[in-house]
Amino acid sequence: MSARQLAVTKEQVIEALRDVMDPELHRSIVELNMVKDVAIRDGTVRVDALLTIGGCPLRETIVDSIRSRVASLPGVQHVDVQLGVMTPEQRQGLIAQLRPGPQRQSPLLAPTSTTRVISVASGKGGVGKSTVTANLAIALARRGRTVGVVDADVYGFSIPRMMGVAGRPTIIDQMIIPLEKWGVRLMSIGFMVNEGEAVIWRGPMLHKALTTFLTDVHWGEIDDLLIDLPPGTGDVSLTIAQTLPRAEMLIVTTPQSTATGVAYRAGRMAEKVNMPIAGVIENMSYYLPAPGAEPVYIFGRGGGQQLAEMVGAPLLGQIPLDPAIREGSDRGEPVALAPDAPSARVFYEIADALLRE
Ligand code: ADP
Repeated sequence: MSARQLAVTKEQVIEALRDVMDPELHRSIVELNMVKDVAIRDGTVRVDALLTIGGCPLRETIVDSIRSRVASLPGVQHVDVQLGVMTPEQRQGLIAQLRPGPQRQSPLLAPTSTTRVISVASGKGGVGKSTVTANLAIALARRGRTVGVVDADVYGFSIPRMMGVAGRPTIIDQMIIPLEKWGVRLMSIGFMVNEGEAVIWRGPMLHKALTTFLTDVHWGEIDDLLIDLPPGTGDVSLTIAQTLPRAEMLIVTTPQSTATGVAYRAGRMAEKVNMPIAGVIENMSYYLPAPGAEPVYIFGRGGGQQLAEMVGAPLLGQIPLDPAIREGSDRGEPVALAPDAPSARVFYEIADALLRE
């Protein structure tokens, strides 16, 4: 059969391009008006596509996706992709599409939003709050949820390192596109400052940064948004409760009674701002010297259960103290990426318990 007999039409090419998603915006490039023109001549299809901004870091990905999708059509011998950049007006049109309504507000803030917002809190630092956030996000994503993580621990941001992600987010006019790793959309102050740079922020700046993360970041249609709070919480819980009134709280503690005491204060804070407590997670609960061996309770026992009773919420899981957890986080590959690893299972149990609630 000759190419002529099989020649595709412009309509067929555009129809096929509907399958190509913008890798950052998670919408079809056709729907986003990123396909400017399609021309067909003999077996060659030329696609003129528009990028949102000039230095788009994922331009190669877009070009490859367009090329392979169009090449799969019968009769296409060659695909030529030309890239241009949207005009400011075209960009405004795109933003209006992503953020409908007169205020161009993030859909996350709409009262009709179905995104579950869970802030992860602890009384003090070092109990594993960020570790829980990172692993839980991966477990939820692996359960098929679309998940976002806000690293609001601006003083000790560790989410970028734990998730193994670095770089600067794309900003389309005022709209910030989260970075993505392991199927999780991520935003951290760590993406905005240089490595090693100290962040010395006062309350109002913290409030502003966090509000920006919640309002100006394009989270898209996500099922769950986990917020890694700074230890102690206070002001930050208040900001979250004001911005996202349906937010819930998860409290992370170690089994030690002193830790439970300070974690209880985070719980009291949640109560004060009317944030329901979805559950308590006990971390570093025990250590298993060998598989099947008697657990060693390095930090004592019972703190998680005790705290759960104090705040009237379920104890959702007890995570062992395990070098694999620390190593995974240090490597940027959280242990939850291997769901069958003994310590990973607890994170999936917690995710399942949250999904049942
Ligand atoms: P926080 O966010 O509460 O300050 P992190 O999540 O940063 O605490 O954890 C502090 C340190 O403890 C990190 O190095 C982390 O890898 C390690 N860690 C946390 N939980 C565990 C665990 N269950 N087993 C081993 N190491 C852990």
